Amino acid sequence: MMVLDGKIAAQAVKNQLQEQTAAITAQGKPSPHLAAILVGNNGASETYVASKVKNCAETGFRSTLLRLPQDCSETELLAKIQELNQDPDIDGILVQLPLPAHIAENKVIEAIDPRKDVDGFHPSNVGRLVQGLPTFIPATPYGILLLLDHFQVPTKGKHAVVIGRSNIVGRPMSILLSSAIAQGNCTVTLCHSHTQNLKALAAEADILVAALGRPGYVTADMVKPGAVVIDVGITRVEDATAAKGFRIKGDVDYAQVSAIAGAITPVPGGVGLMTIAGLLKNTLQAYLQNRG
Ligand code: NAD
Repeated sequence: MMVLDGKIAAQAVKNQLQEQTAAITAQGKPSPHLAAILVGNNGASETYVASKVKNCAETGFRSTLLRLPQDCSETELLAKIQELNQDPDIDGILVQLPLPAHIAENKVIEAIDPRKDVDGFHPSNVGRLVQGLPTFIPATPYGILLLLDHFQVPTKGKHAVVIGRSNIVGRPMSILLSSAIAQGNCTVTLCHSHTQNLKALAAEADILVAALGRPGYVTADMVKPGAVVIDVGITRVEDATAAKGFRIKGDVDYAQVSAIAGAITPVPGGVGLMTIAGLLKNTLQAYLQNRG
């Protein structure tokens, strides 16, 4: 069994980005600049954004974190995005999701200039992804492709089963795995909350991607021996023995499944780290496209 270690793969991506950034700044050019907007103070969002900022610094990118209060209006947020759209020194813009209920997420996503949409959520970028055109691949599916690439996991002709159809993970993952790309060419089954016989379908997968947000959902009986198991889930579960009072659990029962899988991602230390690597790659791509 191979552990698909996100620490190792993400570090390899970051080293490469660091070198590319150093080569840019050595020419006297500015480094890539990511702007992140955080509305309110959701605990998990705070952690994710802090990690993105830290990783930018480690890679030699600049980042600006803009904080807006939980009760800020949609108009205020949209105005902030317009400002960033027009700022030539900002290469990538991300708005940390989820947003407070009074703000329409789709309006916010559509307000971001597609050329700066490093999360790849804008409908025009999603359309490009579906058509196999150059675009910004959403960071989590992108990170998974980078992970499969790093560990040279073959995908061509394999049966991939994706559990979860969200716009940020499951849906784009299913499209990418079925696309004619290096880490694609799979036959894909996309499962969701209305899927019948999910267990049986999962057990047919050569590559199983779990992105449903239910800790420990994928058990050994749902996994074909030797399968590649990608665990996207990140759920905080209470744990009085942990310093923070909680610990992070994936969607896969790691203890059971790692005993029969051919390869598996740990949680933490798997897809989460790769997501940041994907975001950083998109930010450099935006910089190169927008500043020539
Ligand atoms: P979501 O809640 O938007 O979507 C969950 C999907 O799972 C839905 O499409 C739903 O149909 C499906 N689903 C729910 N229960 C199901 C069931 N019992 N059987 C089959 N399908 C079911 O979630 P999301 O934003 O896609 O995130 C999924 C998980 O991945 C969460 O734990 C989230 O925290 C995590 N996540 C991790 C990263 C990372 O970087 N590792 C990034 C994004 C999300």
